[in-house]
Amino acid sequence: MRALFLGLCLFGLLLHSRVQRHSALVLTHANVMDVRSGRIVAGMTVLIEDGKITHIAKLALVPQSRDVTVVNASGKFLIPGLWDMHVHSAFADAPWDEKVIYPLYVANGITGIRDMGGDEKLLKERRAAIRDGRLLGPHMFIAGPFLAAGKADAQTIPVPNPEEARRAVDSVKADGFDFVKILSNVPRESYFAIADEATKQNITFAGHVPYSISAEEAANAGQRSIEHLTGILLACSTQEEEIRKAELEALAVRNYSAFTKLGSAILGSYRPDKAKALFFDFTAHSTWQVPTLVWTMANSNLDHPELFNDPRLKYVPASIRKGWDPTKQKPAPEQAALAKSEAERDIQLVHDMHRHGVQFLAGSDGPDPFVFPGFSLHDELELLVRSGLTPLQALQTATFNPALFMQKLDRYGIIEQGHVADLVLLDANPLIDIRNTRKISAVVLGGRYFPRVELDKMLRDAEDRAAKE
Ligand SMILES: [Zn+2]
Repeated sequence: MRALFLGLCLFGLLLHSRVQRHSALVLTHANVMDVRSGRIVAGMTVLIEDGKITHIAKLALVPQSRDVTVVNASGKFLIPGLWDMHVHSAFADAPWDEKVIYPLYVANGITGIRDMGGDEKLLKERRAAIRDGRLLGPHMFIAGPFLAAGKADAQTIPVPNPEEARRAVDSVKADGFDFVKILSNVPRESYFAIADEATKQNITFAGHVPYSISAEEAANAGQRSIEHLTGILLACSTQEEEIRKAELEALAVRNYSAFTKLGSAILGSYRPDKAKALFFDFTAHSTWQVPTLVWTMANSNLDHPELFNDPRLKYVPASIRKGWDPTKQKPAPEQAALAKSEAERDIQLVHDMHRHGVQFLAGSDGPDPFVFPGFSLHDELELLVRSGLTPLQALQTATFNPALFMQKLDRYGIIEQGHVADLVLLDANPLIDIRNTRKISAVVLGGRYFPRVELDKMLRDAEDRAAKE
């Protein structure tokens, strides 16, 4: 008891002497959540200086000073800043205005994004601008250009053979990107060359499971994350080999309708014991899943007229909004039906994988049509709960798990002394209802404090800019 009291006094004194020199943010009376265990400690004081969490204590003497911002967080819940682990914030063909897309993340409590590929120059410029404080936005963990078949462009390096595949990995690493992203059309030999070279170069590779590879082979080859559950249902099919062969043949002659039809054959030939063996491979190799359920859902709802009344459309730049036009988006009836059954199947698949211990990351794949940057991550968390994760487990997919996945647990993902001060203050407990992650009272991004009124202004500014573009 004595030691505890001394500890508290020391903290108070320390705080007193330190804040003479620095400006500081102090959150008092907060319910602080440990997202590893779900334990909530009430009445905590959190001191933030120079962008970091420097102290967390039960009680503290908070001095009055011009340089200290004190926030009474009584009744509120403090969670780590959220990460959207699958975005494309700078696509080459129609990049969103940086002053629209990045504030949308921050206003929604997303303090970090894993960008899965876009215009490589633009991505690096934007990451640097955010780092230097010239642009408001989340921390960025970025992929190099897509490694894919086809032609080179601002966001693609073609990998038609193993030699070029190895060179592509080298250049992604040399250019300072965080990881290698692969697309579905990577040829088989190139894929294994990428896996081998990435291991040698000590850089991770992630992305789709290419059509030429089984999901099991991807896990064995060390692919770190599988996006959109690609290749998984096929790998659970009794007719895996025949269907893969037919898929590759259809793709070779660009017969997309034949390719789409194979989707129903895959759905109809699911074998639970084969699935179980595959899920075991994922856990054994730490192959993470980024199901992007919100993206699949949006795709399966493109024939719904209500979609075009979504109030969040006002944040989509006008020129891009035009491209989301209902008449342009409307799929053929058979395609729409398949998209719907696939979306429902994905929920079930996540449920099954989760039950077998497979690990997940929350990702939205925004800003694809009707996947709204920032907002859609909260939709994804809700869909993960619908798929059988507890609210705590869903919250982990956007906090602790991303930090673990990126090997950055010393900086992000948990509320701990020494960590980057990325925090979200909520009006209600998200462990009771995951939708409470939307009830944002304030965001702390790298130590900068944004109360609700500033977040609202951020949203209004984004809306104004979006309307003019
Ligand atoms: Zn994507």
